[in-house]
Amino acid sequence: TNPAVSVIGLGMMGTALAAAFLKAGHPVTVWNRSPAKTGPLVAQGATPADTAAEAVAASPLVVVCLTTYDTVRTVLEPLSGQLTGKTVANLTNGTPEQARDLAAWAAKEGAGYLDGGIMAVPQMIAGPHAYVFYSGAREVFDAHQETFAALGGTKYVGADPGLAALYDLALLTGMYGMITGVMQAYALVGTESIPATEFSELLVPWVGAMLGSAPAWAAAIDSGQHLTDVSSLAVNQEAFPNLLETFAAQGVSGELFAPLQNLLDRAVAEGHAADGLSRLADLLRSSTS
Ligand code: NDP
Repeated sequence: TNPAVSVIGLGMMGTALAAAFLKAGHPVTVWNRSPAKTGPLVAQGATPADTAAEAVAASPLVVVCLTTYDTVRTVLEPLSGQLTGKTVANLTNGTPEQARDLAAWAAKEGAGYLDGGIMAVPQMIAGPHAYVFYSGAREVFDAHQETFAALGGTKYVGADPGLAALYDLALLTGMYGMITGVMQAYALVGTESIPATEFSELLVPWVGAMLGSAPAWAAAIDSGQHLTDVSSLAVNQEAFPNLLETFAAQGVSGELFAPLQNLLDRAVAEGHAADGLSRLADLLRSSTS
């Protein structure tokens, strides 16, 4: 028989997680602050718990998916003394520091702890493109990997419990960078009444083609060899004011882009004019500002 799982938190994501465990044939116990949300899962075969304590008692593996780490602590801390021998897999979005703190608390409680970063929306859970980053003790992950496979891909990223959040946030960082540029471009063409839908036909392939350079930047970052024959920081620094001036002239805020001019200026001032854009990652990492 498949191992039992308890799911604490039946928001949009927790509901999808519990449904996936059920579908994979696990006995699932569910708890949510607002009990009404257990209804659809009970219809799919889940057992409702009246309290979080009851949910924890029901299964060796307790999957937690709540709004924030503060919420997680609000729910778990009153259960002190009842987690001994359990494994808590916390899939709530948070920071590496929050994950490490909660892992330390779980260790004091005698519980195994895994932290997870879900790279999917609820509708993708258990589908081919969903995966979850996990960090924490390897043997704890190994003991539950088959169960986690019900949710989608499993990517174990290391023993430091903070690493799943770090990977998750780093992917989101790339996403927000992309969103920043795309929104700025739409804002800019909008000042001349160019429809965003029309411009997107140019923007999407362009951004995709530029992203093709990311592996070469990565190789430069890993090797420390930033000299380029593609596009120097000097030429980027000289051209970037054209963007900022045009934003100002067209009445588009430059607030998202002005900091990049500062970074390009610093790169050149610190002697990296001949290097490629990959140098910026090093400069950001050594920044204290
Ligand atoms: P929802 O807002 O749908 O659900 C939030 C859950 O937290 C509910 O179960 C809610 O209970 C519970 N909750 C909030 N405050 C408290 C409290 N004080 N005490 C007890 N329970 C509380 O959020 P999601 O399910 O979308 O997200 C959950 C986590 O998953 C978040 O950390 C999110 O960042 C992460 N995530 C979500 C993704 C998504 O696409 N949705 C993608 C990747 C990660 P109640 O029903 O009683 O309000």
